[in-house]
Amino acid sequence: MKIAVIGAGAMGSLYGGYLSKAGQDVCLIDVWQEHVDRINREGLAIEEASGDIKVYPKAVCHAREVGTADLAIVFVKSIMTQKAMEANLDLIGPETAVLSLQNGYGNVEEIARFVERERIIAGTTAHGATMLQPGRIRHAGIGATHIGAVSGEGGTDVAAVAQVLRHAGFETEVSGNVMKLVWDKLMINVGINALTAILKVPNGRLLEHEEARMLMEAAVEEAVRVANAAGMDLDREETIRRVMSVAGRTGENRSSMLQDITNGRRTEIDTINGAIIREGKKHGIHTPVNMVLTNLIRIMEKSQ
Ligand code: NAD
Repeated sequence: MKIAVIGAGAMGSLYGGYLSKAGQDVCLIDVWQEHVDRINREGLAIEEASGDIKVYPKAVCHAREVGTADLAIVFVKSIMTQKAMEANLDLIGPETAVLSLQNGYGNVEEIARFVERERIIAGTTAHGATMLQPGRIRHAGIGATHIGAVSGEGGTDVAAVAQVLRHAGFETEVSGNVMKLVWDKLMINVGINALTAILKVPNGRLLEHEEARMLMEAAVEEAVRVANAAGMDLDREETIRRVMSVAGRTGENRSSMLQDITNGRRTEIDTINGAIIREGKKHGIHTPVNMVLTNLIRIMEKSQ
């Protein structure tokens, strides 16, 4: 299968790297010239707990060098989805399927500006990866990948895409209600990311302070009300318990938003807590806690 990965950072390189290792025709596309050059010159190094793996996908800075793909996997940060799609439309032919495993809410809507919904596959991944230097990533966590068609039956062959991912070593489940998975994952990011970035603490530390737990709970509660107004059926107590449990299980992790703030990068706040505000407005739901968290992160982004 001819696969193009749009955004070959930590996660794009992980998925693209293993798909290439499994024999797929993979091209990594990234605006980061140094990373692209290093991959073409020396291959892509993936640090595993068991040692380094070297893989040799092609890498380019622009889709015009690639031609039409069978599958495009979007792995830019969610705030860049529209721009990256627009810049790489050369990849998209009438049969191209587009898969997003990004965090945040709104990726499907951005992709749908350019591709019919029938060809969009969304999902979540519990893998973790870190960019170490150009041409080198660390595979930081292993977990399941869940994917599903955005518009139900009759579109892209999701089972075939799942099979390709499994063949590359990614444990993959197909879901009949993928938007529920996207909202479920959003709840975790809503509860953990902004607070850890503002307080500059690893995930588990949130649970040590009653005040932080109250804020997590309040942010997630607002998000559950918005999700349910948007047609989901999330249980408030169960969702809050799940978010707390993830914070505990990933206690030592520094969230991506904390890493972005620490490194002076723009965060995904607008597609996480910011998305709750936006979607809340559509349904007449007030989201004051998410508003405070979003604005604090925006101020932190501007002050660095
Ligand atoms: P990253 O910042 O490491 O990678 C994004 C890459 O996109 C960068 O290399 C950047 O140069 C590239 N890019 C930016 N604009 C582009 C454009 N217009 N065209 C092509 N490339 C462009 O981010 P990441 O950590 O790999 O995360 C990607 C997505 O996956 C995010 O939504 C994130 O929340 C999600 N995610 C990350 C992890 C993780 O462990 N890193 C886990 C699960 C989900």
